[in-house]
Amino acid sequence: MTRDPRHDILFEPLKIGPKTAKNRFYQVPHCNGGGYRDPSAVAEMRRTKAEGGWGVIFTEQTEIHPTSEITPFIEQHLWEDKDIPALAAMAEAMKSHGALAGIQLAYSGINGPNLYSREVPLAVTGGPILTFTSDPVQARTMDLQDIRDLRQWFRAAFRRSQQAGFDLICLYGAHGFGILQHFLSRATNHRTDDYGGSLENRSRFLREVIEDAREVTKGELAVTLRLSLHEAGTFGFSNAELRDFIEMHGDLPDLWDLAHGTWEACSGTSRFKAEGAQEDLVKGIKALTSKPVVGVGRFTSPDAMVRQIKAGILDFIGAARPSIADPFLPLKVQEGRYEDIRECIGCNICVTGDMTGAISRCTQNTAFMEEWRKGWHPERPRPKGASDTVLIVGAGPTGLEAALQAAKRGYAVTLAEATTTLGGRVARERTLPGLSAWGRVADYRTGQLAPMANVEIYRDSRLTPEDLLAMGADHIAIATGATWRRDAVARLHLHPIPTDPAMPVFTPDDLMAGNPPEGQRVTLYDDDHFYMGSVLAELLVAQGKQVDFVTPAVKVAEWTDNTLEQGTIMRRLLEIGVTMHLSKAPEAIGVKEVTLGCTWTGRQSAIPADAVVFVTSRTPNDSLFHAARALDWQGSGIRTLKLIGDAAAPGPIAWATYAGRAWAEALDQPEPGDIPTFRREIAALDPGPSRLP
Ligand code: ADP
Ligand code: SF4
Repeated sequence: MTRDPRHDILFEPLKIGPKTAKNRFYQVPHCNGGGYRDPSAVAEMRRTKAEGGWGVIFTEQTEIHPTSEITPFIEQHLWEDKDIPALAAMAEAMKSHGALAGIQLAYSGINGPNLYSREVPLAVTGGPILTFTSDPVQARTMDLQDIRDLRQWFRAAFRRSQQAGFDLICLYGAHGFGILQHFLSRATNHRTDDYGGSLENRSRFLREVIEDAREVTKGELAVTLRLSLHEAGTFGFSNAELRDFIEMHGDLPDLWDLAHGTWEACSGTSRFKAEGAQEDLVKGIKALTSKPVVGVGRFTSPDAMVRQIKAGILDFIGAARPSIADPFLPLKVQEGRYEDIRECIGCNICVTGDMTGAISRCTQNTAFMEEWRKGWHPERPRPKGASDTVLIVGAGPTGLEAALQAAKRGYAVTLAEATTTLGGRVARERTLPGLSAWGRVADYRTGQLAPMANVEIYRDSRLTPEDLLAMGADHIAIATGATWRRDAVARLHLHPIPTDPAMPVFTPDDLMAGNPPEGQRVTLYDDDHFYMGSVLAELLVAQGKQVDFVTPAVKVAEWTDNTLEQGTIMRRLLEIGVTMHLSKAPEAIGVKEVTLGCTWTGRQSAIPADAVVFVTSRTPNDSLFHAARALDWQGSGIRTLKLIGDAAAPGPIAWATYAGRAWAEALDQPEPGDIPTFRREIAALDPGPSRLP
């Protein structure tokens, strides 16, 4: 395998102020849901990126002072010297293979509700805190003394960053999250003093703080500025104003890190945004500055990356999600191992870890955030144990990941699939509107499995319980998936509702199998609240149907708040003419009519319908497992027989790939007993006397 010489440019070193990056692969700051709570887990995750060849690696948002914090979201803290050791460990991990280590410093201003610190939030201009969660808190407008204090807090953070061993400091002014953007934008800066009004004045704080950074670090650290490419709205810091700003201050930072407007706009899912979607907003900016420019765009294709550099659009290829899905992306390009690249599918499951205060996971990279907790590695397998053979039944995301990880460990793997297609649910879901990139879950794994000598794949092989016992495997995993329910049972209705058999009822499985409802008017009942309901509404509209979207929630697809998609989904459904029935649920399905009940008042109404689609919940396909377990499986030499993935407990695709990995990792490992299956850190008790009166 050799690298295509056209990709050589990606490996040319480039200076960032006083530092030199070894290549053009730049891992921009990204959250991970672990933050200050899980310091070793985060550090080890960043270490895999160092190993994987990234030239620059950043932390997530690091809050510099308790007067501005974004609880319930878990990022990093650099509030006092006590915070240095955790970040120093992270910097050390980042630098372990020659990457530059960067820290992103944030003061959240109008974006920080301070629910934990209880300090009064300080903002460029006071007003209600602008968060996802509409916290009932307002910020106070900073006076000139507050601004002087803020400079001091930044200076302390610069000193601590240097002490922790970082090479680069990134000042956060993007996504509406950082106070630098609040100063720049007329939407959030209504000041009439030297810090408000003209662009020159709105830029003043940035100039001061960058000067402070250089002074405190004696010019030894590079200073980068992360700004939004475009803030929407009449008063927003628009792309045109950003260009004016860069023209005025072209040499101010050592590098311009440019990321589209809000986080939702910047980190769009593949359903709504293609690779390289920010190109129009960033094109031409390089001509305004002598400093390097980094931009993002969910880049996974080396050709697309090279084009950005050769066309003079970017100097560095910024990546958050592609670096999560494949921490070894740079090394694989460097070594010409293109077919090994595990491409991000753009599902934003990683974002949900941060949004829910959990710990992030990745659909594609099952080791993400488990590097330290469980000792999983994105590339290096755990050595094989004492037994030799495994049988996996079902080649969906669970079965494919189980097979790949077991095969990498060195087991002789047999994978049996009932149909002629590998991929299970993703083979079907990838055909739905906007979801084609999800097929990468199957493509990556089937591509990896194909050349492996210790893997046998049988298609068109629906196994029976007797087959399982006869196959002589040491370990068997049943990964037979799940089936969408045909009654209304999910969260609201825990039992089926009265349904006239004359009404045609469909499930997502029917529609994915290419059986559209007859008739014109379709009632779609969504008590699943993730993507499937709205995707099927789009499909039905494309098939010429009139869709009534019924959900007991107050908004459509409410869990997609966590994937940053909810607003876009709502807009899309309104644009294509879907009729919404929010806070409603079907109470009875009649002939040509659905009776709806209001979830608050119980008031009933009726809508005409030719067919009903239930997007509610799924029944595990676990009959094979239970039938096999009823036989004398241990007597036939099988050591373990497990039910995994959607066949055990249906969930998102990321839960399925995780289940496959967890099964393969556990082969020949001791049972964990009554302790957690992962390492964790427990906050140390502070032995010192209180420094407060
Ligand atoms: P998961 O998300 O857990 O991987 P899927 O529904 O995507 O679940 O995949 C399950 C796969 O198992 C499907 O491809 C299905 O055809 C296959 N399958 C179901 N029953 C059997 C069986 N008895 N033998 C072999 N394959 C089966
Ligand atoms: Fe990409 Fe999805 Fe993984 Fe996030 S969770 S990195 S969007 S594949």
